[in-house]
Amino acid sequence: MSKKLLLKNAHIEGIRYFETYRKNGGYEAAEKALKMTPDEILEEVKASGLRGRGGAGFPTGMKWSFLAKPEGVPRHLVVNADESEPGTFKDRYLMEFLPHLLIEGMLISSYCLGSNVSYIYIRGEYSWIPDILEEAIEEAKAAGFLGKNILGTGFDCEIYVQRGGGAYICGEETALLESLEGKRGNPRLKPPFPAVKGLWERPTVVNNVESIAAVVPIIEITGAEYSKIGVGRSTGTKLISACGNINKPGVYEIDMTITVEEFIYSEEYCGGIKDGKRLKACIPGGSSVPIVPANLLLKTVNGEPRYMNYESLADGGFATGTMMGSGGFIVLDEDQCIVEHTMTLARFYNHESCGQCTPCREGTGWMYKILKKIEKGEGKMEDIDLLWDIQRKIEGNTICPLGDAAAWPVAAAIRHFRDEFEWHIKNPELSQTQNYGLAHY
Ligand code: SF4
Repeated sequence: MSKKLLLKNAHIEGIRYFETYRKNGGYEAAEKALKMTPDEILEEVKASGLRGRGGAGFPTGMKWSFLAKPEGVPRHLVVNADESEPGTFKDRYLMEFLPHLLIEGMLISSYCLGSNVSYIYIRGEYSWIPDILEEAIEEAKAAGFLGKNILGTGFDCEIYVQRGGGAYICGEETALLESLEGKRGNPRLKPPFPAVKGLWERPTVVNNVESIAAVVPIIEITGAEYSKIGVGRSTGTKLISACGNINKPGVYEIDMTITVEEFIYSEEYCGGIKDGKRLKACIPGGSSVPIVPANLLLKTVNGEPRYMNYESLADGGFATGTMMGSGGFIVLDEDQCIVEHTMTLARFYNHESCGQCTPCREGTGWMYKILKKIEKGEGKMEDIDLLWDIQRKIEGNTICPLGDAAAWPVAAAIRHFRDEFEWHIKNPELSQTQNYGLAHY
């Protein structure tokens, strides 16, 4: 059984409220942290090995150490709660059921970074959650954990919740900052990075909800102890939101030492494939990361078991591996049509492209149209190579990672399931009534 750090108290009735959270050890980490110096907290976060839980996996302590500190210029912490990646809903769970864990993590992080005004930018579709967060903020303030002169330390901190307008692109940190400033959510060219010029051109750290919540157990147990959980550079625990053709969809906390097979089939987690069907493929890190067929999902190219951690999932690179990403674990059974699935994703990225870069703006729409044609049985063999060519021309040639996110699913689908694309083209009449999964798998 995986060790629980973030969700250890999630089962307690009323844990959403300050009184219950406090009775169960809440804000003790904040009390401890406020007796430390900001540099000591930074060292704990660095020692923990915590990697950003939003998708990129960049070391959080290192990110914090890049924060510029010009004299007299305010700094900000911005929590990225714009969780819009298809298949990803673990931050929603944290904010809905454990809002004080996030607020406590923000207090500690704000103190460490010197942010007197911090923000939570939350996706518009999570319409009921801002009220929960704002209630938690008020409770924390009333108890002296936010506001002026917190616990008599002289440190002031306010937290504000900003609702997004429902655009996926605002999950990209610079688009988020633009939106937070009241502008259209267009990604910025980097450099300068937010650590130097972020919100209102002030030094800013943008971190995912789960990353900031993880600061609480790091302070509780120390960074050194946190780093002993997990394996290699995949330290601590990770929340996984599991969905698709499984018996037990939901949010699970794992310690990154379990195998993918155990995660999918054990009763503790996904409980196996629905209706006893066979596993066809999986996207383990949200829709942007490469899809992996079952044979490469359960074992690496070297025949080793594949583990639920950053290194093992990426084993073999993009040709055979994938990424931990956001932890949005999407399972596809034998009946799922890969062409249809890829087309649905292409439509999503085309719809969400902000339109600034030509390869992304034009390429995502072009890929969607070709995939739609193939799925309807109206494609030609050369369309597969054209698709490959388009995704190659998008990848790495855009302002923000949405371009890559749109290209990788198409590349991986062709790489691993080319025969399925060809089947649709060779069997136009069958293509409209059944799918390759039913016919061949
Ligand atoms: Fe906009 Fe796409 Fe360019 Fe990102 S890659 S800036 S979403 S056009």
